[in-house]
Amino acid sequence: MVLFFKKELLYHSQSFSQPFGGSMRLWIKTPLAGMPDGAEGGLVVQGGIVAELVPSGRQPVADGVFDASAHVVLPGLINTHHHFYQTLTRAYRPAVDKKLFDWLVALYPVWARITEQEYRLAARLALVELLLSGCTTAADHHYLFPERLPNAIDIEMEEAASLGIRVVLCRGSMDLSTEDGGLPPPSVTQKIDVILADGERLAKTWHQRGPGAMSQLALAPCSPFSVTGELMRATAAQAEALDLRLHTHLAETEDENDFCAEKFGKRPLDYLEGLGWVNNRVWFAHGIHFNKSEMRRMGMAGCCVAHCPSSNMILGSGICPVGALEAAGVGVGLGVDGSASNDSSNMAQELRQALLLARAGRGVDAATSRDAVRWATEGSARCLGRDDIGRIAAGAQADLAFFKLDEPRFSGADDPLAALITCGAHRADRVMVGGIWRVVDGAIPGLDLPALMAAHDAAARRIRAA
Ligand SMILES: [Zn+2]
Repeated sequence: MVLFFKKELLYHSQSFSQPFGGSMRLWIKTPLAGMPDGAEGGLVVQGGIVAELVPSGRQPVADGVFDASAHVVLPGLINTHHHFYQTLTRAYRPAVDKKLFDWLVALYPVWARITEQEYRLAARLALVELLLSGCTTAADHHYLFPERLPNAIDIEMEEAASLGIRVVLCRGSMDLSTEDGGLPPPSVTQKIDVILADGERLAKTWHQRGPGAMSQLALAPCSPFSVTGELMRATAAQAEALDLRLHTHLAETEDENDFCAEKFGKRPLDYLEGLGWVNNRVWFAHGIHFNKSEMRRMGMAGCCVAHCPSSNMILGSGICPVGALEAAGVGVGLGVDGSASNDSSNMAQELRQALLLARAGRGVDAATSRDAVRWATEGSARCLGRDDIGRIAAGAQADLAFFKLDEPRFSGADDPLAALITCGAHRADRVMVGGIWRVVDGAIPGLDLPALMAAHDAAARRIRAA
């Protein structure tokens, strides 16, 4: 099952899957909250999908029962934007309290030192953190391929498969270095032909299609200030040819607007539109600084936005106009963003941040707790071009996050679903992906978490000191 944990003994050897991914029927009985209307009796999982929704008072045919009466059960949370490798550079002193461009320039040389072994630990830790917070599908945007780290995406794919979490991994790229007026140093950029050939190889190796896909690939040049127009255009054409989704950072800061105005004489969206990047394959990370006409064009074209509230607040980048984007027809999902801008990879916490930030910007009517859940599930699924995840419905994947309200922070709460968001849930009690339990009693079965943390922390010290 686990091809590369053997060496490091971070996992025990036994399988931690259970039989309800097969033909057995498991009744998730009478959850405390979270079920769609008419399914208060819970749901039946069979063959990795939700086989049946159960009305209140009905007893379905089942081989086993999980009593969920103490759990709020949500569709598994879907993270639409992340940089796993950044778990190695959280709260890095020279980058603390910097805004985006200065923050990036402080970190590029450290990131350039990451080796495959360190990278594997970074990805594993990020995925573990996500799973424990109720996340069942994670998109990662990896755009750093220094000489010592050519196979970063393959490593992430292997780590995700070992943990049983669904992933959409974005083959990122940078080809505009400081030598050509870009922001990153040459040590972390690549040539266009190398980037495109690797994208094609990864798509052939890893990209699954259709309902239930566990591993998918998207193509993802990093940003207008680290990528040439030629690479942007070529990547859009490659995505069309290989039928893959497209992702990039856009409209994150005012500095980016200034950079695009100075270098291209255009606003960021106008620049990307001219390169074939405004269509229904695309989800942009951040999307803070769009004007009304840009939002309308994106909505008409079917673009989506990965809203990353914690990162936007830590870097002081601005407030994503979530309501205006949705009103314009733009799909909105949630992302934790890199673990060095968020300094966390916790999807449950991101729901609370999204609700609070929407209200800080636009008042109490701007969003409800249910909206925050919807963004992190249905909205995120739309970003990733998926309709088999992000909802609890007959035929959907059995990706579920179970939260207990048994910590002091929840004590005395009335509405369980609202409590999950406003009291600040941060850890799932159980998580199921495709009908298989991946988190049980707040832990990942078989994972030696202290050993993983010790190895990961040592790796972070190494790259800081190098
Ligand atoms: Zn990012």
